[in-house]
Amino acid sequence: ALSAREIHKSFGGKEVLKGISADVHKGEHIAIIGPSGSGKSTFIRCLNLLELPDAGTLDLQGERVFDADRRTSASSVRALRRRVGMVFQSFNLFATHTALENVALAQKLVLGRDKNAARKRAEEQLERVGLQDHMQKHPSQLSGGQQQRVAIARSLAMDPEVILFDEPTSAIDPEMRVEVLKVMKELAEAGMTMLMVTHEIQFAQQAADRVMFIADGEALATGTPQEMLVDPPHERIHRFVKAVS
Ligand code: ATP
Ligand code: MG
Repeated sequence: ALSAREIHKSFGGKEVLKGISADVHKGEHIAIIGPSGSGKSTFIRCLNLLELPDAGTLDLQGERVFDADRRTSASSVRALRRRVGMVFQSFNLFATHTALENVALAQKLVLGRDKNAARKRAEEQLERVGLQDHMQKHPSQLSGGQQQRVAIARSLAMDPEVILFDEPTSAIDPEMRVEVLKVMKELAEAGMTMLMVTHEIQFAQQAADRVMFIADGEALATGTPQEMLVDPPHERIHRFVKAVS
């Protein structure tokens, strides 16, 4: 569904991404692992153009949606973001809005859904992530795990073709992580196309079809969870997996 080719990105003369490519086929779940500062967040932010790559291309369902060599219009950026959802480490919910309003808002603003349709869809998706009893609460009244599930429901309500997750559980207390991981596993089982940066090795083993290891702005290796996590092909990956397990 999503294909990134030779993505390069520099910040202030420092090359953070040195030509990373990735293919996420429809229904596939890819986990990205790697050391801190290696460029994982920058890479997935490039995939929905929160960062504009300096070089490289993006294709979505076989259609060229970004080419660094061509001018990128604001409308094509918006069109891409409608199709590629993102869930952040720090939920990014509106504190002054209820869970229900948070999930309904983007549908109205971005998709132009009418109030009732947006509300109905928001209720469905909040129910799907197990928050049917918390729809009227504000973020401050919810645990980290619940807030992240609101953020996931908000993304799902937009009917994205792919969802990108950037360490969705790392800002959550350990005992609340499991409920977020459970929702992500259910999404994976339901056939959602997902690309997720995660330090949860056990989760990656259970939910990912492929695992990609990024180090120093390069994709060092990609393989099945078994190949990458159980019997890593490089000493570097082996050390990393051991350290975070
Ligand atoms: P972590 O595991 O800690 O989240 P990461 O692999 O996600 O790390 P990135 O956040 O992509 O790493 O950062 C890669 C490098 O790019 C780092 O050196 C970081 O300081 C730098 N960087 C990221 N965003 C910016 C920015 N907007 N401006 C300048 N430098 C940036
Ligand atoms: Mg990061």
